[in-house]
Amino acid sequence: MSHIDFKRAATVGVEDLVLLPTLNEKAIMDNLKTRHAKDLIYTSIGNVLISVNPFKRLPIYTEEQISYYRTHGKSSTTPHVFALAEDTYRTMILEEENQCVIISGESGAGKTEASKQIMQYVAAVSGNSDEMQRVKQIILESNPLLESFGNAKTVRNDNSSRFGKFFEIYFDRVGGPVGGKMSNFLLEKSRIVRQQEGERNFHVFYQICCGAEDDLRARLRLKSAGEFFYLNQGKTLERAGVDDAEEWRETVHAMGCMGIAKTDQQSIFDVLAAILHIGEIGFQAATGSDGTEKCTVKDKNHLAFVAGLIAVNVDELERALTWKKLEMSNETIDVPLDLQQCTNARDAVAKSLYDKLFNFVVESVNRAFGTKPYALMLGVLDIYGFEIFNKNGFEQFCINYVNEKLQQIFIELTLKVEQEEYVRENIKWEEIKFFNNKVVCDLIEGKNPPGLFSVIDDVCATMSKEKESVADVKMLDKLGAAHGGHPHFRQNERGFMVKHYAGDVHYDSAGFTARNKDTINIDIVLVLASTKSMFLQELLADIIDSAASPTSSSSGQAKKKSTTAGFKIRTQAEDLVRTLKSCTPHYVRTIKSNDEKRANYIDDARVTHQIKYLGLLENIRVRRAGYSYRNYFDKFLKRFKFICPATFPRPFRGSDKDACAAILDCAGGVLQRESWQLGTTKVFIRQPQHLFALEDLREEAF
Ligand code: ADP
Ligand code: MG
Repeated sequence: MSHIDFKRAATVGVEDLVLLPTLNEKAIMDNLKTRHAKDLIYTSIGNVLISVNPFKRLPIYTEEQISYYRTHGKSSTTPHVFALAEDTYRTMILEEENQCVIISGESGAGKTEASKQIMQYVAAVSGNSDEMQRVKQIILESNPLLESFGNAKTVRNDNSSRFGKFFEIYFDRVGGPVGGKMSNFLLEKSRIVRQQEGERNFHVFYQICCGAEDDLRARLRLKSAGEFFYLNQGKTLERAGVDDAEEWRETVHAMGCMGIAKTDQQSIFDVLAAILHIGEIGFQAATGSDGTEKCTVKDKNHLAFVAGLIAVNVDELERALTWKKLEMSNETIDVPLDLQQCTNARDAVAKSLYDKLFNFVVESVNRAFGTKPYALMLGVLDIYGFEIFNKNGFEQFCINYVNEKLQQIFIELTLKVEQEEYVRENIKWEEIKFFNNKVVCDLIEGKNPPGLFSVIDDVCATMSKEKESVADVKMLDKLGAAHGGHPHFRQNERGFMVKHYAGDVHYDSAGFTARNKDTINIDIVLVLASTKSMFLQELLADIIDSAASPTSSSSGQAKKKSTTAGFKIRTQAEDLVRTLKSCTPHYVRTIKSNDEKRANYIDDARVTHQIKYLGLLENIRVRRAGYSYRNYFDKFLKRFKFICPATFPRPFRGSDKDACAAILDCAGGVLQRESWQLGTTKVFIRQPQHLFALEDLREEAF
């Protein structure tokens, strides 16, 4: 199929939900379902694109499709991610304004696929000099690299992104790509040491275990993936249809494309292997002559191998894993860790190594782009959507907070853009009431009065000597005291509930303070800081700096108060919001058709639920409250000239605007005067049924 079949498309439901004759969630669902059944996975709400995951390859992302959308504007085509990409890219050049595409939806709904399609489109239609080719190669090749380090198989998605990303492409004034930048958010570190059943660790580990060549395998003592504790807990070693060995070669190739030197690549392999072998470190407890229990590492030879990989002294490493410094009033004493604490210390090392390694990979992409001056920017935000699990912890709290912020932008920008258009076009309109989630954002991030994050930070700052579980309880009490009366907050037994825009979420407070502090024992920091590896010294630079600064080491913590995980995510969210607000926004709302990843199947309840929390109904209402249909004079004329003798068959003698007025007058029998207005460049029609009436007249005219 090399062209789009308009006739068929036009008869399947409505392409723009604004035109739905009756407006409720069921009607939205039915419409999406009818279209999905015909493989029409895209539908729009004005400038918002909705995509329903087909879970099968459709022949709609070909070169021909790209050239089709390139030559046909968005308003004359059916909804498609390429139409959105074309609109975004063209608007950037014509209006000389930065653009962003905000992609939202739950895990497995199709966010990352959409972002890749946008990148693919932009790469295909933009400039072609050698240097631009180089930039495009980075845009496209960075993707497999980032996915191998940042994606994992989960029960929801075989290739689930476990980090959020904002990918900016930079252009010259005529739309030639000159560079880019990638920012990452909230890598799911806990996956390194723990996976639930049916899930895997990050892809790269399985790739190296399957694909590493013999000499590397021998040097790093790699075993098969199933033999490593950090890889086998989920009892799932493979991804359907994916050859990990083949992917390993692609990952290594992509490292080369990003300009990661061969020696650095070897160092990356060392760190990956070190992490796997760290997971194999076992501990044993023995009661000493003084009656206290002390732990030691079971297999010294193995530990020595790990120490070699990260270039630290083996005895110092063992000491750091089994003892910790405790500050008393004016002295520091060493206390032995119990078995659980030793395991935690071990896992902490693995997590921080991987976290830093991931940052290195992201940085290498940015280094490859370089820092040339640029005129315009097109950003794509692919970040995990709102999460409600049976058990929600600090991670969900952060993720949902970011989504709350994105919803805030959505509200501000769609309304703002809408309002601005009416002003620009000199159109009369009335405002509509909708739920503004600013109140929830303030509850979470507020400074005065202190919001949830601030209260948590306060507790963390004063808890250095307390046990974590005690601190969590204290935190919960303080949260209750500060926000007990808030309409969007409720304290309960094991945690608290936040009434998010997308639904009520119960957070389990256990582990909140530890996750927020995000520190590792100073003992471990010091041993990592002693590494002889230049690569690790660079990788761990900020950890090493914090160890060197006397204020932090005397407090027994590796990081200062201001760098809690909560603080970091708030700062990142603020930066992101600032950037997004300076752009013209475009939206893709992705919907997951079912949880079984089945093609040709819509789970009504699941889809309805998503429609609800994506706020599609409100979105349509807001759009309808103004004028549900708008189009440029020339486009309107082209479509409806047939219904008026003044415009057809002989062309109208006069401006397009006057021609449109003539057409609308001709339709006076079905269209009251209040139902339309002419702006400065566009026709505005208030109600969908009025547009239907025009469409009927057009049909009759043939
Ligand atoms: P998310 O990033 O939202 O978690 P993905 O973009 O990774 O989800 O999509 C999950 C899976 O769904 C993909 O691996 C693919 O199999 C399927 N999928 C998503 N979008 C499409 C599409 N447009 N066409 C075909 N399959 C898709
Ligand atoms: Mg994804």
